[in-house]
Amino acid sequence: MAATVLAQHRSDAEESGIVPRMRNEAATAKLTVQRVRDHLHVILGAGGNITVLTGPDGKLLVEAGLATARPALTASLDSLGTDPIKHLINTHWHFDHSDGNAWLHDAGATIYAQEKTRRYLSAFSQVVDWDYTFKPFLPGALPTVVFDQNLTLYLNGQTIALNRYEPAHTSSDLSVHFVEADVFCVADTWWNGFYPFIDYSTGGSINGTIRATEANLANPKVSDATVIVPGHGAVGNKGQLAEYHGMLVAIRDKVAALKKQGRSLQETVAAKPTAAHDAKWGNYLVLPDLFTHLVYKGV
Ligand SMILES: [Zn+2]
Repeated sequence: MAATVLAQHRSDAEESGIVPRMRNEAATAKLTVQRVRDHLHVILGAGGNITVLTGPDGKLLVEAGLATARPALTASLDSLGTDPIKHLINTHWHFDHSDGNAWLHDAGATIYAQEKTRRYLSAFSQVVDWDYTFKPFLPGALPTVVFDQNLTLYLNGQTIALNRYEPAHTSSDLSVHFVEADVFCVADTWWNGFYPFIDYSTGGSINGTIRATEANLANPKVSDATVIVPGHGAVGNKGQLAEYHGMLVAIRDKVAALKKQGRSLQETVAAKPTAAHDAKWGNYLVLPDLFTHLVYKGV
């Protein structure tokens, strides 16, 4: 029975093809440029959210977005002034955050990431729940400044603190904190308004995702005034992040109880344990049945 549901997810992924679909969408997407604070902007619509810091040390980007969004992203970056592109941080290896690495490196960016992110990008890396295997990047597209736990950059008048999470969405997610501006990028540990994807193939899990959210909420540097940039969805704040945490815990507990009763994956999906949350969270990419499947795997 479980195999049937899995097979259905695979064929869904093949027919609509999540990876090609996202690439196609980004090719024609209209991007939104939102000023966040000081010299920080967020560009939405090119894949994962892209945070941009401008200034005399050159533009710094958190995330590269999808390569198909290059023309629109170039126009958006140009609208933020003439500082050259100099720095790029990959918060994790997923294609909607790193696909643009090659052209951004050619444009002048040094790429920073956790060392496992470089390893995933250097090899054939499969995401089972996307039914997709990514090819190794060419050397120019790989991060060249890598670290294990943390790295601090001082650029454009900001202290930029990169910190590794315990395994959450993948095994090498980073947060990026612009200290003086009080802007905190939490990567794909937070999908604001949507059920998150969780990549079990490279070390992610529902409980890791919940723990990362708890770490964000408990972080003494994160206050009610902090601007929090999610990997996907609107720029938000601590209150909204707490709401997301509540949703994750409620669904995790429901699915865990069903699994403990001996329900199969298919029976658990049929019981619709996400129903109370679907109207708010279940309308993008990770639809309710897939999210139930992702939670069931980890409880
Ligand atoms: Zn991701």
